Amino acid sequence: MSDTAPSIFSRIVAREIPADIVFENDRIIAFRDIAPQAPLHLLVVPKTQEFANVTELAAGNPELMTEVVAVAGHLAAEHANGEYRLVFNSGVTAGQTVFHVHAHVLAGGLAESSLA
Ligand code: 5GP
Repeated sequence: MSDTAPSIFSRIVAREIPADIVFENDRIIAFRDIAPQAPLHLLVVPKTQEFANVTELAAGNPELMTEVVAVAGHLAAEHANGEYRLVFNSGVTAGQTVFHVHAHVLAGGLAESSLA
């Protein structure tokens, strides 16, 4: 197993860092982004930190990737009008800051989003 230190998102999973959690099951956790870029800005995060980005996740566990997308859709329907943008920043120059794969779910008033 990896001896990598827990990511900030793994620390949220472990309840070492507080977060406004909106969904959780055995594989995935979702919570509000601490610096929202849209009226609804959630992060949907596989609990495993073995995948750094969406390319690795899709190649390594396509079922989990599919579940991330399904959870995003359900949460957008629950917390907004069901229409949403799904963003995976992949790499430093693309704006990724946390190297534990996560989907940004953005909904409502997206014109001002800096992730556009
Ligand atoms: P990235 O830049 O890697 O695509 O996205 C990382 C996201 O995680 C950012 O939007 C940032 O605001 C969010 N974030 C970073 N640290 C925390 C935290 O401790 N709690 C929450 N809820 N979000 C965080």
